[in-house]
Amino acid sequence: FLLVLVVSGCGQDAGGKVASSDAKDEGNGKLRIGLSVSDLTLERWQHDRDFFVDKAEELGADVLVQSANGDEAKQVSQIQNMISQDIDALVIIAINSDALTTVVDQAKAEGIPVLAYDRLVNGTDIDAYVSFDNVRVGEMQAEYLVEKVPTGKYFLMGGSPTDNNAKMFREGQMNIIQPLVDKGDIEVVGDQWAKGWDANEALKIMENALTANKNDIDVVVASNDSTAGGAIQALEAQGLAGKVAISGQDADLAGVQRIAEGLQTMTVYKPIKVIAEKSAEVAVQLAKGEKPEADSTVNNGKLDVPFIKLDPIKVGKENIVDTVIKDGFHSYDDVYKNVP
Ligand code: BGC
Repeated sequence: FLLVLVVSGCGQDAGGKVASSDAKDEGNGKLRIGLSVSDLTLERWQHDRDFFVDKAEELGADVLVQSANGDEAKQVSQIQNMISQDIDALVIIAINSDALTTVVDQAKAEGIPVLAYDRLVNGTDIDAYVSFDNVRVGEMQAEYLVEKVPTGKYFLMGGSPTDNNAKMFREGQMNIIQPLVDKGDIEVVGDQWAKGWDANEALKIMENALTANKNDIDVVVASNDSTAGGAIQALEAQGLAGKVAISGQDADLAGVQRIAEGLQTMTVYKPIKVIAEKSAEVAVQLAKGEKPEADSTVNNGKLDVPFIKLDPIKVGKENIVDTVIKDGFHSYDDVYKNVP
């Protein structure tokens, strides 16, 4: 315990990046990066972890990975634990974008630079944010659906209410949908958010929405593939799967399979290798005390954070092969295994 205090004292005195680059000389000479993952039970984050660790190791760093599996308090204590292990940079995939202020302040007080990965961390001094253009993701979802079903009854299935991205997806969706609501072409018949991006939660929400609307729903604007999966289960029970247009995100194998089978309308593919490798590069730069280059900024309530913004890709039945399969993200056989 005393040792921790002494180390923390040094960090504060030396200040900022000097302390972090000092730290690397004390161990095996390698940079140490802490990666705090929100939830490894969701498919996408396993890919993120794997690509991130591979790239960081290639760049000569060791990575300490911890997953909080959806538990906010656990994420805070895991980050505190990493801070005490002398890391040179901290990378966070936040569960709750608003609940990490104190722990990030602690990291910064130790001279550890912080990178927000995919999800912004609000209200505190982070060094960089690497993510896809999340508003654009929401626009892509809505654009695809509106093109397929230009008029009718739309149900909005948001993601986790504590995830800043979920709000950005909705903002993008409404950029496209609101003008059509104003014109009278689209009626929004419900608007719910699935806690923890949980598929079961989405299943229940969809069951209730179908009951409340007497099954009269034309489109479900689902914010990702896990919630789309839950909603499609509820649609299936009413014989409506494949008849109601529904969006998704992540190009999860199950999501892409559903598109191939005609049960889901689209997904948004965000090449995980791109975000993971870019983040690993930025994390190593930060760990070395360097300043990464960013072409834009995003305000997190405390400051304008340098934002490295990546491009998402729309995927429907017509371009599965040219996108996720071509990239090697999924194999042809896996995607089409249920399609006769
Ligand atoms: C990510 C999505 C993901 C969701 C649930 C969001 O923050 O941007 O890609 O589907 O979290 O894990």
